[in-house]
Amino acid sequence: MTAVAIDGPAGAGKSTAARAAAKRLGYIYVDTGAMYRAVGVRMLALGISPKESGRVEEALKGLSVSLRFTEEGQRVLLNGEDVTGLIRTPEASRAASDFSALPCVRSFLLGLQQDLAKTNSVVMDGRDVGTVVLPWAQVKIFLTASPEERARRRHQELLEKGEAPSYEEILSDMLARDYQDSHREIAPLRPASDAVLLDSTGLTLDEVVERIVGLVRKKEA
Ligand code: C5P
Repeated sequence: MTAVAIDGPAGAGKSTAARAAAKRLGYIYVDTGAMYRAVGVRMLALGISPKESGRVEEALKGLSVSLRFTEEGQRVLLNGEDVTGLIRTPEASRAASDFSALPCVRSFLLGLQQDLAKTNSVVMDGRDVGTVVLPWAQVKIFLTASPEERARRRHQELLEKGEAPSYEEILSDMLARDYQDSHREIAPLRPASDAVLLDSTGLTLDEVVERIVGLVRKKEA
């Protein structure tokens, strides 16, 4: 099995690049952020706050998060229900970041993520894939871009979906989430010591994918 770990801050283009690279390589693409989003959305629906770690732990006992891999990409199932479309809201982003700081949430998802890489060659993206989830990954990439570039891309993405978000709000949400993700006690966002740093500012998607695939091919050689 080959594992490619791609970590980095929100909006660096991880998921688009990781999905395209996985397709080129014939690996499955695993979006770990989607799992945190699913847990966050569930906790919000149950009216649980991230401060109530006891209630969160209790709620996790009755929860199953699973992934389904289709031609069109990964689907996220929460207790069997497809929530792929529901987890892409600003509220879900914040909830994912808030609840992902809890140890019980992280250990709940860790085994699932590790199991996927035991039985499949994967391109997996997130915040702690190279450091905690798959420290043995053959290729590790830390993908960044300037905050302004990341916010501009996310803004463009939402406009294309027919939404009318404010650029300033996206930028400030993104910076707040990055700060929280980088400063939490467990599994904070940081490059693994053996990760290749890739700054996608000014690069096209094809160029980013080319670099990722190139790193994998170099390892295989
Ligand atoms: O990647 P995405 O923006 O969908 O992730 C949502 C949130 O989930 C992140 O802001 C982060 O708090 C959390 N996350 C994490 N560890 C991962 C992936 C995502 O803590 N491996």
